[in-house]
Amino acid sequence: MRFISTRGGEFDISSSKAIINGISSDGGLYVPEEFPNLYEKIKNKKSLKYEEISFEIIKEFFTDFTFEEIKFAVDKAYKNRFKVIEENGFLELYHGPTAAFKDAALLFLPQIMKLAKEKENISDEIIILAATSGDTGKAALEGFCDVDGFKVLVYYPNDGVSPVQKMQMLTQKGSNVKVVGIKGNFDEAQSGVKEMFGDNELKKRMLSKGVRISSANSINIGRLIPQIIYYYYGYFQLVNKQKIKLGDKINVSVPTGNFGNILAAYYAKEMGLPIAKFICASNENKVLADFFDEGIYDKRRELILTESPSMDILVSSNLERLLFEASGRDSNETKKLMNELEHKGVYSISEKSKEFLNNFYGNYANTKEVYKAIKDLYEKEGYLIDTHTAVAYVVLKKYIKSTGDTTPYLISSTASPYKFSRSITNALEIDTNEDNDFEVIKRLNKFCGINIPTNLKNLDKKKVLHNNICSVNDMRQVLEEFVGENIW
Ligand SMILES: *Cc1c(COP(=O)(O)O)cnc(C)c1O
Repeated sequence: MRFISTRGGEFDISSSKAIINGISSDGGLYVPEEFPNLYEKIKNKKSLKYEEISFEIIKEFFTDFTFEEIKFAVDKAYKNRFKVIEENGFLELYHGPTAAFKDAALLFLPQIMKLAKEKENISDEIIILAATSGDTGKAALEGFCDVDGFKVLVYYPNDGVSPVQKMQMLTQKGSNVKVVGIKGNFDEAQSGVKEMFGDNELKKRMLSKGVRISSANSINIGRLIPQIIYYYYGYFQLVNKQKIKLGDKINVSVPTGNFGNILAAYYAKEMGLPIAKFICASNENKVLADFFDEGIYDKRRELILTESPSMDILVSSNLERLLFEASGRDSNETKKLMNELEHKGVYSISEKSKEFLNNFYGNYANTKEVYKAIKDLYEKEGYLIDTHTAVAYVVLKKYIKSTGDTTPYLISSTASPYKFSRSITNALEIDTNEDNDFEVIKRLNKFCGINIPTNLKNLDKKKVLHNNICSVNDMRQVLEEFVGENIW
C-alpha cells in the first residue's frame, strides 16, 4: 500500500513515511492510493475480538510492517486498556485510559510510530506537537508518555476546555511531556501548530540537531486508520446480537469536530462495510451542517463555546480527505478549495462533488436540545450519554423525523458522561451550584449509580505537574525551549 497527498505534491509514499511525516510537504493530507475491500474477506469472521479486527484492518494499510510487528503493536495498544461496547444502538468508544474515544487512535499511534522510526532508520528524537480542544491532548499524552525516542508538546485553549479535561492534562506524568495553555481558542492553537509544520526553515534547523516534529492530530494517517476498526466491530456486534443480518445496511450518526471519526466511517464503507447514510452532527458551530446543506464551506463566523467543547471547531481538517474523494480524487481541485479556505475563509464545491456527497446528512443541535435529549433518554431508558453523544442523538432524531428512514443505526458515543459532569447535572436538573466540578462528579455518581471511570476518580487530589500559559505568538518559542537550549 502506498500513500498520496490530497494536493498532488507527493505520491508513492510508504506507510512508515506517511506516519512519520504526519502531513505532506505540500500542506496536503496523506490518503491511501486505494481502498482494499476488506468486508468480503472478514464478514464470516464476525466474532473476532477487537484486537483481531484491528490486526485485519491495519495490516491492509500499513504494509511496511510484518504481521508480527502489527500484532505486537495492536496488543500493546489495546489489550486490557481499551474496549468498545454497543448498547441501545450507541457505540461506546470511551472505555479507555482517558474516558474519550480518542484513545482508540492514540493508544495505537505511538506503537506504530516507534516501529516506523525503525523502518525509516530515524535515530532523531521526534517531538509530537498537538493542538487540542480537550480530549486529543490528554490521549496523546497518555499514548506517548515515556515512549522512548519521543517527546510530546500539547497546546490547549486555556478557556476552551472543561475543568476536568484541564486537570487530566495538568496532572500528566512522564519525563517527556509538556502541556501549555494558550490565550486563544482552539482554531488559533491549531493554526499555530500548522504554521510550525509548514515552516521548512524551522524544520531544517531542528533536523540538523537531530530533532523532528510530527503530529498526533487526527490528520495523521496512523491515527485515522485505527478508527475504521470500531465501525467494523460495531457492525458485527449488531449482527451478533441479531439486531441486523449480515449484509444489512446501517446508518451512522457521528458527533463531529475535526471530521476524523466520521471520515473513518466513510473509509469503512469504501472498504465494503454496508453503511447507507452518514449523519454528520454539529453543535452551534454548524459550519459542517451548512456545508452539507449548501455545498458552501464558510468559516467566517465567531467560534461559539458550547457544552460539547471537543466539537468547538470552525476548520475541520479531515474534510479535505472527503473533498478529495468527492472531486473524483482531483488534487488540483482539492488544492484550489483549500487555498480559497485559507485566503478567503470560504469555498463552494462543484455540482458533481455535491452529488457525490448525497449520502451525507448534516444538521446541528443547540444546548437546549442536548439537555432535553440527555434528560429524556435517562428518564425513559435509564441510559446516560454525554453532551457530544447527545448532539449525535438529537441530529439522528431530526434526520429520522425529516426522512422517515427506519434503517438500523449506530451512534458514535464519544465520551463518558462523567467527563462533562456539570453539563450532565444541568441537563438532569440536579442542583450543584455550590459544588466544584470534582464534587459534581461524585454527586452525579450518587444520583445515577454508574461507575466513575478510574481515571476520573480523585482527579482533584492529584498533583498539578504543568503550569504554563502563553500567548498565541509565543507558541513557537515554547517549542524551542522544550527542545532544549543546546539546540539553538
Ligand atoms: C474529538 C471529539 C469529537 C469529534 O471527533 P472528530 O474526529 O474530531 O470529528 C467528538 N466527541 C468527543 C468527546 C471528542 O473528544
